[in-house]
Amino acid sequence: MLHIGCHLSCSAGYLAMGRQALAIGADTFQFFTRNPRGGSVKAFDPEDAKALVDFMQAHRFAPVLAHAPYTLNACAAEPSIREFAERTMREDLERLSHIPGAMLNFHPGSHVKQGAETGIRLIAQMLDRVLTADIQTPVLLETMAGKGSEVGRSFEELRAIMDASREGDRLGVCLDTCHVSDAGYDVVGRLDDVLEEFDRVVGLERLRAIHINDSKNPPGSRKDRHERIGEGQIGLEALVRVINHPALRSLPFYLETPNEIDGYAQEIALLRSRYKE
Ligand code: FE
Ligand code: FE
Ligand code: ZN
Repeated sequence: MLHIGCHLSCSAGYLAMGRQALAIGADTFQFFTRNPRGGSVKAFDPEDAKALVDFMQAHRFAPVLAHAPYTLNACAAEPSIREFAERTMREDLERLSHIPGAMLNFHPGSHVKQGAETGIRLIAQMLDRVLTADIQTPVLLETMAGKGSEVGRSFEELRAIMDASREGDRLGVCLDTCHVSDAGYDVVGRLDDVLEEFDRVVGLERLRAIHINDSKNPPGSRKDRHERIGEGQIGLEALVRVINHPALRSLPFYLETPNEIDGYAQEIALLRSRYKE
């Protein structure tokens, strides 16, 4: 069974997202924990969260994925931005503790001229402070395209964050097909080699989620512009190989393609039709 969903807007609440996912043939979804470009957040409704948990159980959903805001930068040069990142992650993890079966994904950060090494150290230090023993929610580092000074453009940089953090053993990874292609990994021609490399550097057991996106740009472009499934430089056949790959096929897949809800429904149906049961 292919576990697949798409990015949904949280504005109508948690249960509403679950219902919307089900209505488009999904059995999971991704949502922003708060305004992705600001950081503001609406009041938390624990009853709505409980209703979603019950709904997910009743409909056998795969884990849902919460995405931290883009403005969260754990390795900013500006201390106030780093403090915002830490506070935001703490608050989001507190909320997610009400949704067992949710994971939190975040962009490791942008080191803004401080260098990747400093960036990695600052990210690891934030994780050490935030990931207290009581936290059950899996926290995932996303593979990045490498635009600007993004940390996480290579498997080695993700490994370095895990190694630098005392809590590194608890971290997982969300692999974004658009990002790794833009970062220069040949997911079209050499998927097996890319996954072997991931296994050697990070460990496939760390891989918890896949962002399944096509890319507007060729491999190595370091752009991060998502495209609809089959309309970009990765193409449908390569993405079909991703969802069917023995090392990946049981993971949850999340679409972040430029689509309205109908477009997402079509992509979910398309990928389900190409999944080998
Ligand atoms: Fe992301
Ligand atoms: Fe992504
Ligand atoms: Zn992206």
